[in-house]
Amino acid sequence: MKLLSTNAFVIYIKKLNEADLLLSYITEDYGKITCFANNARKSKKRFLGKLEPAMLTNIKFYEKPGMTLDILYETDIIEDYKNVRKDIDIYLFLIKLAEISRVLCQERDNNKNIFYLIRAIYKGLNCIDAKTSLSNFSMSAILLKYEIYFISNLLKYTGIFPNFLTCTICSEENTNNRFYFSLKKGGVICESCANLKDNTIIKNLPLNFINLSNLMIESDLSIINKLVVKEELLRECSTFLEDFLSFHIGKKIKSFESL
Ligand SMILES: [Zn+2]
Repeated sequence: MKLLSTNAFVIYIKKLNEADLLLSYITEDYGKITCFANNARKSKKRFLGKLEPAMLTNIKFYEKPGMTLDILYETDIIEDYKNVRKDIDIYLFLIKLAEISRVLCQERDNNKNIFYLIRAIYKGLNCIDAKTSLSNFSMSAILLKYEIYFISNLLKYTGIFPNFLTCTICSEENTNNRFYFSLKKGGVICESCANLKDNTIIKNLPLNFINLSNLMIESDLSIINKLVVKEELLRECSTFLEDFLSFHIGKKIKSFESL
């Protein structure tokens, strides 16, 4: 067995019994990994207070050749995003992002960009304070912007960002962004190719959504922070992305229902 070490964010924790846990991480060097943490709930030195979702940790784990499950040996806190845990709305939002990462990312599919995306989001969320949010934007608008930023970029990094440019059937160009959207095809579809009886076709993509999501995948989070967009449009965009994700995954993501 090899002992490996990397920086990581917890995205899933499940109690297996009184003492043991199963954890999934997005890591800097190995993509998504799932670990068995033996006696984690009783081992104060190795794990106590270090398995929270809102922190960056360095983890050491044993990799067993041929096994999908790794064995967590020890964790240490690198960055603690304390403010995130103080605000219930931000915390629930973070749980939702963790759930989306867990469902979309494949085990050991190493894309460092996903790790850096999560880090940027957590750092950004940790810096939101009541004063900045109240002066320019409502908290819900900020969280919606972060959600659209996160999902758009995650779709890009996992290779399933929708094709908005050309009809997915006849390749006609989507000038003026007027095409329908086919959930089944994962992209836009022109009026003549669309079978309107197909209930996986969305006729009205939120106005300006394509521009907004393109901006999201081309910009830094600091630019998104300053971006002024009507909350109503943000909400429509987030609903569209959630529908797209749910269809792609084949089920409703749990946290979409609870929020
Ligand atoms: Zn077409």
